Amino acid sequence: MSDRSDAIVLFGASGDLAKKMLFPALVQLARDDLLPGRVIGVAASDWDDAELREYARQSIVEYGDGDPDSPAAIRLLSVLSYLRGDYRRSDTFVHLSERLDGAELPLLYLAVPPSLFASVVAGVVGVGLHEHSRLVVEKPFGRDLDGARQLNKTVLASFPEEAVFRIDHYLGKEEVLDLLVFRLANTVLEPVWNRNYIDSVQITMSESFGVDGRGRFYEEVGALRDVVQNHLLQVLSLVAMEPPIAADARALRDEKVKVLRAVRALEPSDLVRGQFTGYRDEEGVAGDSDVETYVALRLSIDSWRWAGVPFYIRTGKHLPVTATEVLIEFKQPPQMFFADADAPPHPNHLLFRLKPGEQVTLGMQINEAGEQLRSRNIDLTYEYSQEHEGPRQLAYARLFQEAMDGEQRLFARADGVEAAWRIVDRVLTEHPPAHAYGQGTWGPPAADDLITCDGGWHN
Ligand code: NDP
Repeated sequence: MSDRSDAIVLFGASGDLAKKMLFPALVQLARDDLLPGRVIGVAASDWDDAELREYARQSIVEYGDGDPDSPAAIRLLSVLSYLRGDYRRSDTFVHLSERLDGAELPLLYLAVPPSLFASVVAGVVGVGLHEHSRLVVEKPFGRDLDGARQLNKTVLASFPEEAVFRIDHYLGKEEVLDLLVFRLANTVLEPVWNRNYIDSVQITMSESFGVDGRGRFYEEVGALRDVVQNHLLQVLSLVAMEPPIAADARALRDEKVKVLRAVRALEPSDLVRGQFTGYRDEEGVAGDSDVETYVALRLSIDSWRWAGVPFYIRTGKHLPVTATEVLIEFKQPPQMFFADADAPPHPNHLLFRLKPGEQVTLGMQINEAGEQLRSRNIDLTYEYSQEHEGPRQLAYARLFQEAMDGEQRLFARADGVEAAWRIVDRVLTEHPPAHAYGQGTWGPPAADDLITCDGGWHN
């Protein structure tokens, strides 16, 4: 018996996530000859195999490479089948179990509303499928620390942690993994990667668009739950963790959890919340909603490496640009002999732009041409597109592939999820009210008071 899953079950195959992300990812797997022999979609719609295949074709046209007749797409459609059933009924799982007869380590993918996670797990356990399956759980992992603990308990009552794959698709993104490699593959960085040389760290995820008609969903979530607790704290952990003793799942996740546990739990004075004007007019949004579409945070890490270095996280909708960046700002040299007294030089910095147009920039000082010895700023930039041809691997394709191999490096561990919720738990409910900010601005001006490093926010 190999360790590879030879079947995928998509709970929620007729849903939004399947259409936007999962079918395009499965086509990439087919292209790379990594598709398992069976992909079974299970959902409530009164569909047959042909209707699910049509849904997958539409997905490829709208969200994939656009060609539903490519050899890879045809391969996917040929292994795709549909099982209609209600997750709250045991017969659904009896039929599923029959369909999975002989399958090795099937990957059970929960692309379903969180309220149904427990029903699906109970159904799977009812027919004994949990004994030889892997479980992929989509975000959100609960709505707060208590909810996350409860969900972990539910899942771990039937599945061993080694069989659970909690998706934070950010961890499957090549840009995010590039950051990890850059940090750990360059010896010159380690001696300066600490409180002695680094002044501050800023992580920004800005979006120039709004809630895209998903006001009802967003009302239940807000920026803190939607992207900070998961994606942006994952990025922070990659920047701040100690170098692991190996690149395997256990060593990497041990270090990530350790640093998350060292992050001080946020207090209300550590954040500024904002809401873009017009949000309350969105469909499904309360007229007096206080849900944040913007949040800026100041985090402290109580560790030997980072004590006293502020980490800032900022995210928002309807900001001027769509971009995700990590800025590592170094301290100024102790004496600045060559600086222009009227214009202090920008301190050295490393800027990882994850999106758009992935690049890494090292900001340095050089001598300006002319008679005077005077330093000026220059940027040394590497653009990843220089060496990449064609589309990069989709995050979900990478995650499918790793989960099918039983490789957990890129998935969140139970204790990691809880460690991240612990950081934000108090301010989910105890927080200052959201300030209004205009669409196309960088959020509420109050956020400028939160950031104390020279130069303020990097816009
Ligand atoms: P949808 O509401 O679009 O899809 C839900 C799916 O579950 C549908 O296939 C639906 O079947 C099925 N379903 C619901 N209730 C039942 C039931 N009682 N019995 C059988 N099938 C049922 O949700 P999304 O695809 O948007 O989200 C799924 C998960 O992915 C959620 O956990 C979400 O948080 C997460 N996620 C979603 C993202 C997105 O972009 N959409 C992004 C990141 C995470 P049918 O339609 O046939 O009734």
